[in-house]
Amino acid sequence: MTTYLAPTKDMNFVLNELAGMKMLARIPGFEDATEDMVEAILVEASKLSSEVLSPLNKIGDEQGSHLVDGKVRVAEGFTDAYQQYIDNGWLGLGQEVELGGQGLPYLLHTAVSEMWNSANLSFALCPLLTVGAIEAIKEHDSDDIKSTFLPPMVSGHWTGTMNLTEAQAGSDLAAVRTRAEPNGDHYLISGQKIFITWSDHEMSENVIHLVLARLPDAPSGIKGISLFVVPKFLINKDGTIGERNDVHAVSLEHKLGVHASPTCVMSFGDKGGAIGYLVGEPHHGMAYMFTMMNHARLGCGLQGVAIAERAYQQAADYARDRIQGNAPGHPERVAIIQHADVRRMLMLMRSLTEAMRSLTYVTAAELDKSLHDDDAEQRASSQNRLELLTPVTKAWCTEVAQEVTTLGVQIHGGMGFIEETGAAQHFRDARIITIYEGTTGIQALDLVGRKILRDGGEAMHSLLAELEIIESKLDKSNRHLNQIAGSMSEGRQMLKQATEWMLEHAVTDPNLSGSVSVNFLMLTGTVLGGWQMARAALVAQQKLDVGDTDTDFYHAKMVFTRFYFEQVMPRAKAYFDAVTAGVETVMELPAEQL
Ligand SMILES: Cc1cc2nc3c(=O)[nH]c(=O)nc-3n(C[C@H](O)[C@H](O)[C@H](O)COP(=O)(O)OP(=O)(O)OC[C@H]3O[C@@H](n4cnc5c(N)ncnc54)[C@H](O)[C@@H]3O)c2cc1C
Repeated sequence: MTTYLAPTKDMNFVLNELAGMKMLARIPGFEDATEDMVEAILVEASKLSSEVLSPLNKIGDEQGSHLVDGKVRVAEGFTDAYQQYIDNGWLGLGQEVELGGQGLPYLLHTAVSEMWNSANLSFALCPLLTVGAIEAIKEHDSDDIKSTFLPPMVSGHWTGTMNLTEAQAGSDLAAVRTRAEPNGDHYLISGQKIFITWSDHEMSENVIHLVLARLPDAPSGIKGISLFVVPKFLINKDGTIGERNDVHAVSLEHKLGVHASPTCVMSFGDKGGAIGYLVGEPHHGMAYMFTMMNHARLGCGLQGVAIAERAYQQAADYARDRIQGNAPGHPERVAIIQHADVRRMLMLMRSLTEAMRSLTYVTAAELDKSLHDDDAEQRASSQNRLELLTPVTKAWCTEVAQEVTTLGVQIHGGMGFIEETGAAQHFRDARIITIYEGTTGIQALDLVGRKILRDGGEAMHSLLAELEIIESKLDKSNRHLNQIAGSMSEGRQMLKQATEWMLEHAVTDPNLSGSVSVNFLMLTGTVLGGWQMARAALVAQQKLDVGDTDTDFYHAKMVFTRFYFEQVMPRAKAYFDAVTAGVETVMELPAEQL
């Protein structure tokens, strides 16, 4: 397996030129995010990811994690790596200084998290969930709970989990049955959760579970679910770790990928009830959990970027080494990177990855602005944009990662199917990311139902107006920019027409949203990926025009962008046609005939 090298140059470009890191650094509280600081952090994170986490990726895949005498044993090297990770304060990078964090923008946390995820997706899941749990506790819990749980979680000494899924309650969380009985100043939780990531291990001193459960008087359905903080070890009055709580991992799943990340069946209350503390108000648990879920959804989109980057690096290295056949202009047998079709695959992998990175970082910057901008209007408009972009980032990036990791296997030929090269691991590891945190189908329903139909398309129309402005800025006298503008304009119009079509037709047929929404989401992702690539082209051309010294980087950026508009943007038309074909054939046959 190729060692991962963080693409710091492209990350810096996206952070500064597209996602507005310098603007964020002007927000009070983010003053430390200077250009030098950002650069230094990326360099340090790239060292940990390449030197420590990347070499453990294959070991983790081969060894997996195991339940031994009721305790989860992680793969060799993971505990040491985690210790290095928290010793250097990486977990609290984007958390408030008062909680022991470094007070830097979530955008920067996103860039370094991309590195952890590229280097070792299984490892990175643990901090991803911890940060999500921190956000939920921070936003909705009492001061008492916050002061007890947040500092050790921000430092990484305690990790966090998300306990939603039960055997009968997957996408449909209204079916959650886990119970919570009031008992003095706390609750006793009993029930079983399945598929819970990193919910038992000994890399940290404690594991803090965020658990969805029902109170005895709860109404049925989604409005009767409450959220509880349930620690693995109880906390003594002086803040030290106390007795073991009544919550245990009872088995681990055997999985297609992310082998090193333990996926546990968790039993609560085998000995009378696990002690838990109610978060916020009773019956509002789903709303609170959405803080964690939205956070994790952005994290999953980023996993798509990260695994795509890793698969690309692996494939490009292999293509440079593998000698096979002849190519025009080469008298000797060539490395396969000389074959036009292999080039096409590498260009596709790289241009898709760059588009995903830009869209994900831009979404992360909206999160920062929605929380911290000193202008209330900006906060509100960033919140709207964030809500619109979250399902697109989650589902489009994770779906595209399937394509990119498949291409990674294809470039290896037969060796891609053999485990030793590592290409197969990226393909297997990527497969879960379109499923957890809400499947692609669920994200698409969220996009269409909550983000388009509910506001009559307002948030989408305001975004489309920005795309039009970018098009108008592309210099039509430049042949390449003119082509990009033409392709961009076609994609934008497809998205605009599809939005209008959805608004007109979705009310008349109850199955319409469900049958066309994934294609609508893929259309949206493709066009918005193009929006970011067009912005990148604008900057790159300006740099080339003024004679910037980094000609190779900006020229390559232009070529990847042109490729995206030539070979990816035309997909918008196919998605558009599939959306506007409507529901008829999808629902025509009776279920028995499928
Ligand atoms: C490795 C791994 C790690 C996980 N980690 C966690 C974790 O840490 N915490 C946690 O709580 N859960 C976790 N999960 C669970 C995960 O979130 C669920 O698997 C996921 O939400 C899908 O639920 P399900 O498996 O029950 O599938 P189902 O809900 O049964 O879905 C099956 C199919 O039906 C479709 N479908 C279902 N309902 C609808 C609908 N209303 N409209 C349209 N299509 C629909 C889905 O899109 C999917 O294609 C994990 C799962 C795995 C495999």
